[in-house]
Amino acid sequence: MANLTRADLEALPKYVPGRSPADLARELGIEEAIKLASNEVPYGPLPGVVEAVTEAVTNVHRYPDMGVLALREALAAKLDVPVDRVATGCGSVALCEHLVKATAMPGDEIIFSWRSFEAYPIIAATAGVTAVKIPNTPVHGHDLDAMAAAVTPRTKLILVCNPNNPTGTFLRREEIERFLDTVGPDVLVVLDEAYREFVTDPGVPDGMDFADRPNVVVLRTFSKAWGLAGLRAGYLVAAPEVADAVRKVITPFSTNACVQAAALAALRAEEEMARRAALVIAERDRLTAAVRELFADVPESQANFVWLPLGDKSVDFAKHCESNGVIVRPFAGEGVRVTVGTAEENDVFLKVAAAF
Ligand code: PMP
Repeated sequence: MANLTRADLEALPKYVPGRSPADLARELGIEEAIKLASNEVPYGPLPGVVEAVTEAVTNVHRYPDMGVLALREALAAKLDVPVDRVATGCGSVALCEHLVKATAMPGDEIIFSWRSFEAYPIIAATAGVTAVKIPNTPVHGHDLDAMAAAVTPRTKLILVCNPNNPTGTFLRREEIERFLDTVGPDVLVVLDEAYREFVTDPGVPDGMDFADRPNVVVLRTFSKAWGLAGLRAGYLVAAPEVADAVRKVITPFSTNACVQAAALAALRAEEEMARRAALVIAERDRLTAAVRELFADVPESQANFVWLPLGDKSVDFAKHCESNGVIVRPFAGEGVRVTVGTAEENDVFLKVAAAF
């Protein structure tokens, strides 16, 4: 058969989701496997979410509100910005895609650290945009000076993931401020804060503190602390013109009716979200201390996962964990990302890790 798709797709890396625990349990003949691979929070949906979705589902023969007004208004009120500065999408990964689509043409450049979120290069490649990857510092963080120095007249977008996935490393207020001043106002800078709710270090600023600069976009998700990974809800705050441009290029109705209802319900359960995030944070700090006893150079994490820089041993380590019923996320030749689970899950992981 003739090749009906783009020739360059073959060379494109695939987005690798965490393996299904049911699948692994079946393979190993055990009752339950533990998944610490996708940075989810392990405590189930927030109170009110299931009821809201159950209610919304009774009306799914109708299109949802394309303007997503109730949810955008709730977000705008929470973040103290006008509603025209808020856009929502089918996960923050889709919003990333829309931001690239709204800013860059084939041949233009976008800059991000490497390693950072694995979707960034895929989004760049499918948009025909040149990905300029700036290597992380030796301590696994963003090299902001090198990123700023890489800006050319073709640069349209810079993606700064803070805290960084998969390394958990973080940027401080003065670093971001200096970076934004150096880059200037002509390039859009996206502060991808998928893990913002797990940040405890007061030196790590809320991206909203920079959101009044017209070239800054704050990107967040309901997938992690808010517990809606399976429903796909992300949002951004940007200058009205940028938010408008995103809404223009977005797939119509991509924040669906159930998602709108669920995200609103989740926002109403903010206190419970924070209580759960605090449990994750306490476990993160315990897990970090414990893995530091086993492995060298584990960076401090401000997210809900821990990075083990195991280099060439990364894939072997992940295989060892899987054969013991624990799914973690290897990045071949670099490291392994371990999502913080419940205390019991983390204990099982630590036992398995110690046996490696
Ligand atoms: N940004 C970062 C840094 C992430 O780690 C993720 C999820 N892995 C996302 C964005 C996308 O999240 P979602 O599409 O589920 O909102």
